[in-house]
Amino acid sequence: TDKKAYEEAQKRLKLAEDDQKNMLPELRKRSRWDYLKKRESEKLEDLEAEINDDEYLFATDELTQREKKELEYKRTLRDLAKDYKKAGAREQEERKNRYYMPEEKRSKELPQRDLELEETPMELGGEQGRWEEERLKTASLSFGAKREREQGMRYEQEKYQLLLEEDEMIEFVSTAMTMKGTRAEKDAPALSQAELNKQSMQEVRRSLPIFPYREDLLAAINEHQILVIEGETGSGKTTQIPQYLLEDGYTNGGMKIGCTQPRRVAAMSVAARVAQEMGVKLGNEVGYSIRFEDCTSERTVLKYMTDGMLLREFLTEPDLASYSVIIIDEAHERTLHTDILFGLIKDIARFRSDLKVLVASATLDTERFSCFFDEAPVFRIPGRRFPVDIFYTKAPEADYLEACVVSVLQIHVTQAPGDVLVFLTGQEEIEACCEMLQERCRRLGSKIAELLVLPIYANLPSDMQAKIFNPTPPGARKVVVATNIAETSLTIDGIIYVIDPGFCKQKSYNARTGMESLIVTPCSRASANQRAGRAGRVAAGKCFRLYTAWAFKHEMEETTVPEIQRTNLGNVVLLLKSLGINDLIHFDFMDPPPHETLVLALEQLYALGALNHMGELTKVQTSLSWYKCSEEVLTIAAMLSVNNSIFYRPKDKVVHADNARMNFVVPGGDHLVLLNVYTQWLESGYSTQWCYENFIQFRSMRRARDVRDQLEGLMDRIEVEVVSSQGDSLPIRKAVTAGYFYHTARLSKGGYKTVKHQQTVYVHPNSSLFEEQPRWLIYHELVFTTKEFMRQVIEIESGWLLEVAPHYYKSKE
Ligand code: ADP
Ligand code: MG
Repeated sequence: TDKKAYEEAQKRLKLAEDDQKNMLPELRKRSRWDYLKKRESEKLEDLEAEINDDEYLFATDELTQREKKELEYKRTLRDLAKDYKKAGAREQEERKNRYYMPEEKRSKELPQRDLELEETPMELGGEQGRWEEERLKTASLSFGAKREREQGMRYEQEKYQLLLEEDEMIEFVSTAMTMKGTRAEKDAPALSQAELNKQSMQEVRRSLPIFPYREDLLAAINEHQILVIEGETGSGKTTQIPQYLLEDGYTNGGMKIGCTQPRRVAAMSVAARVAQEMGVKLGNEVGYSIRFEDCTSERTVLKYMTDGMLLREFLTEPDLASYSVIIIDEAHERTLHTDILFGLIKDIARFRSDLKVLVASATLDTERFSCFFDEAPVFRIPGRRFPVDIFYTKAPEADYLEACVVSVLQIHVTQAPGDVLVFLTGQEEIEACCEMLQERCRRLGSKIAELLVLPIYANLPSDMQAKIFNPTPPGARKVVVATNIAETSLTIDGIIYVIDPGFCKQKSYNARTGMESLIVTPCSRASANQRAGRAGRVAAGKCFRLYTAWAFKHEMEETTVPEIQRTNLGNVVLLLKSLGINDLIHFDFMDPPPHETLVLALEQLYALGALNHMGELTKVQTSLSWYKCSEEVLTIAAMLSVNNSIFYRPKDKVVHADNARMNFVVPGGDHLVLLNVYTQWLESGYSTQWCYENFIQFRSMRRARDVRDQLEGLMDRIEVEVVSSQGDSLPIRKAVTAGYFYHTARLSKGGYKTVKHQQTVYVHPNSSLFEEQPRWLIYHELVFTTKEFMRQVIEIESGWLLEVAPHYYKSKE
């Protein structure tokens, strides 16, 4: 039976893996072109047939509105498929001519190619209508050879051919699109990295675009209570403005200047930089505050913090009395917390006339901010930017991770010195990309110059984060692989090349079903342009987009939808209620959340007993203590909060990792498995080694411990005793039921259905209950990946529901 159990476990994990695998290409599938690539021409005929049928029905008026839409779509597909076929044939032809050359012929052919490239006009003025045409005309590997020549560089095609397999290469086309530089900078000489390094920190401060406007800016702030400040990323808004204010006396009398950042990493890194510029120790005059890390002291007057932390401060200081200035930075990001801050700060500014409010943003959307803050004036810091040439791939790239790696190497061996910035969507991808790059560099050895590969993402330890700012040693090239934190929050000097696969991870939320998803989706055009702009900070740069010009034009949204419109509002509603804001429907939102989302959040809080029938906050403190298992519940809550990043599964040790994981399984459900993991870790003395041996992510565990400590502190504050159920899982499962009874699913003939919406859902293959299929269960979250999956489930008995939530279940059933 051991063997059988093992095999079953293997099967289950395989399913989980397949889920992942199926999901990825699906998610990476950018476009209809990709879709076609997969189906290729055999499907074209099917499509033609379908269209014929449809057209017949259309003529006889038998198509529904929706089918008509579909027909339209099919026609587009067909046209594209035809184009695609043509392009494919041409592409093959070109490949044949170009890359399958016998060795000795190569050197002869190459100069010719250079000539051809030279003739390709690089700046034709980017009329949109001419894109397609241009795409067809331009040379396939127009890798900026012209500019190289001008700079006296040799186009090292030959070397490049030897280093990279020809079928690995990516063909880029220039669509004759250039992001314009500002006129003043166009002819100005580029600053070399060496020159930049030589400048003293004070010189650097004086060289920033914001510096000439220091006095004007201070005068404007003096004159207006609320000011919107717009400036190109890297112009010095975040690091300089607080210092100017400090120098101008805004911190006299112990008042503080607060500056919010949507991201933890940015808050930390910017504070470190400013402390350095001011020559003080981080945590003294300049500090930062992010969740679980308060690096401030009595002396702190410049405080950088995440927007979420400032929201929390409202709880203890509702009028922010200790602040003289609040800077809401990176306002264009429109994170949920920033949006809520807008409303709250606008409100307190009315009665705190001494409070200055600055809303800082990249060059996006500033009119809207001004409008929201009662026509507050906009202070524009004239940008400084060198032109950036934009390249697109000729055809869609199926695997953008691989494409990134290849592009980096392509740049490394063919392009003039300058660092590279790659945008990926998250830690996993970034780590994979870095590994692949390092592996290939190792293989190429001394054939290529040194390539420094540096990751940056939110969970990266701070010493590693700081590394990205170190100047690149001479002769080497730096590649920073980043999440969209490098889009506007962080500026890395020396970047000349940007690689943009065009994706980001985005949350979305379906208020009707309560289903949340965090999926990789195409980023917006605004994002793509911000990314490209990163290449033009110190000299003329290049941006390589790993998608087609067509995709840019047709498949990307203009701007990103504000987070408030695509997220669960449970926590925010609770927070606003605790601030005494009861009428949420009329709260001053810049963009109001969907009505259903708000209603659902209120409903759940009401069902939980956190709100009374007046919609006011009640005191729910004691229910936890009924079950006498608060010790365990604290751990489970903490473990759930670091969700899905506990188990580690390296590609080369899949079997070991899976076995290790199986060892943690206990009956009852995933909550109990998580508890088991934590308990064993605790018994190991919070050992790193233990994590390593058991394929557990130490960083996640440490974070869970932080969350747990914080929760325990809160329990202490509300005087709820922390007691253990002494190994009995029954009270734990009941307690989970009491907190999550509205997340119940029942097994019926057709599988699981949610009790609330009768929606078909599935247990995630990663779950310990995947095969057991208990009749009743409670899920922690519902996520859509390839299917509607319940993640983290626990088995319950239906009787408990009536016991813990009679008000909810009586009325429903
Ligand atoms: P903005 O907020 O307008 O985008 P910042 O104030 O963040 O601009 O950045 C201004 C300049 O400060 C950057 O161009 C960069 O040279 C420098 N800088 C910012 N943060 C750091 C850091 N952590 N390390 C080194 N230099 C930095
Ligand atoms: Mg900034």
